[in-house]
Amino acid sequence: MARYIFITGGVVSSLGKGLASAALGALLQARGFTVRLRKLDPYLNVDPGTMSPFEHGEVFVTDDGAETDLDLGHYERFTGVAARATDSVSSGRIYSTVLEKERRGDYLGKTIQVIPHVTDEIKNFLRIGEDEVDFMLCEIGGTVGDIEGLPFFEAIRQFSQEKPRGQCIFMHLTLLPWIKASGELKTKPTQHSVKELRSIGIAPDVLVCRSEWPIPQKERDKLALFCNVRPDAVIAAQDLKSIYEAPLAYHREGMDQAVLDAFQISPAPRPELSRWEDVADRIFNAEGEVKVAIVGKYTQLEDAYKSIAEALTHGGMANRVRVKAEWIDSEIFEREDPAPWLEGFHAILVPGGFGERGTEGKVRAAQFARERRVPYLGICLGMQMAVIEAARNLAGLTDAGSEEFDHEAGRKRFTPVVYHLKEWIQGNHTIARKLDDDKGGTMRLGAYTANLKEGSNVARIYGTNTVEERHRHRYEVDVKYRDKLEKAGLCFSGMSPDGRLPEIVEWSDHPWFIGVQFHPELKSKPFAPHPLFADFIRAAIETSRLV
Ligand code: GLN
Repeated sequence: MARYIFITGGVVSSLGKGLASAALGALLQARGFTVRLRKLDPYLNVDPGTMSPFEHGEVFVTDDGAETDLDLGHYERFTGVAARATDSVSSGRIYSTVLEKERRGDYLGKTIQVIPHVTDEIKNFLRIGEDEVDFMLCEIGGTVGDIEGLPFFEAIRQFSQEKPRGQCIFMHLTLLPWIKASGELKTKPTQHSVKELRSIGIAPDVLVCRSEWPIPQKERDKLALFCNVRPDAVIAAQDLKSIYEAPLAYHREGMDQAVLDAFQISPAPRPELSRWEDVADRIFNAEGEVKVAIVGKYTQLEDAYKSIAEALTHGGMANRVRVKAEWIDSEIFEREDPAPWLEGFHAILVPGGFGERGTEGKVRAAQFARERRVPYLGICLGMQMAVIEAARNLAGLTDAGSEEFDHEAGRKRFTPVVYHLKEWIQGNHTIARKLDDDKGGTMRLGAYTANLKEGSNVARIYGTNTVEERHRHRYEVDVKYRDKLEKAGLCFSGMSPDGRLPEIVEWSDHPWFIGVQFHPELKSKPFAPHPLFADFIRAAIETSRLV
């Protein structure tokens, strides 16, 4: 039966709880254990699928088609364990399950209450797959003391009591602020946060303290004494140059040892950290720099394209170069010539997105990349815009566009080269959708197969003829324009197994121009860079002769 590690946060949000959890997962793996990581989010949305990327950052899609929190992306990147729908839950999901049960009459006339009904449902979630791994790491979103978080804290408290002694531990992440005037790291906010945690019945076993500076022994002792943890279990998590240093840095600080000690696992298996040493070596000993322009809409919040930024870094690591990604708002290209903006870049990436705003600018970025022979990677909407560019400028469909934009505007302006997908096959059944369906969870989501065309660039890059990649879209390039577009030179190099859905397009006579309907960035890892990103960066180096 799995041992449980509950990860909570205090003092302020955005401390990198997700990263700390992911790094701990990687360290436990390095010691030979199997792990699974989960996120419990107290907000009321059923899942983050309907949240704006400006609000919540990227939506991470799992193979089994769940739209989840971006922390699941960190978990996967650090452990290589594919996240599943049952690794993410929110208050909204829990409450909707409870209410469905109530309507069905499952509670036999009882009054439905937070304790025990909501907390029971949270505990049911925690138990899923408990026999499958050695360690289950469960991160609670938000900070201790948040009103919405209370049922989750109560549920993990109850859960730890119901399990045999020593089966569950609590790791709490806090911040030690640096006071410039006195030159001191302050422990008081951490003390208060632990006090808050203990007032709801949870005593942390391990304290992870984020700080800008090393934590002097005096402060460590103070934290141990006032927060009632063992001195060895006060872990300093100093700011790092790269997130991928975290497993090595936290190991040096004794995080994994403190966790194993808390479970009284002795002797602890020795860690095998060569994977992370290689990752660190590739990051810190990179030679040369590749500049990639990301032409998108959600450019103010870096988290909106988290996995893309990470996958580009991995692509750099595969080639031992640094990748400098710069975000450019595509709307600029609707007013200005893209050339002066894009000329300094070695490669151009147009990411996914929703809605018409900024899309004409993306079409112009795709045109620039095609004409100037600059490596281009179009992801989802970035592929659709590249196809629209080809249709308009080379296939004579001058009013080509996407049905998405006509639908949004409420009038018909475009030839729908990209149309609303009403039906598709998943496994052995057909999924049907209407334009006015609910927004939540109704896209074409999760892993689907694509067959690759023999001799194409993508077949060479992947080194195989079928791939499984993750999708999240409502619209699709219409295969009925395939002949026209192929005559113009656009190669449909990846298709769904039934041949109806274009999955990949490429310009065969271009140094590197590929559009994909799926999200390859979601499967890239620092120790296993995604082949498309690795080859995209290789091409950027080659075409610009950087090295
Ligand atoms: N808005 C487009 C669609 O729904 C693209 C989605 C995306 O880029 N993820 O098809």
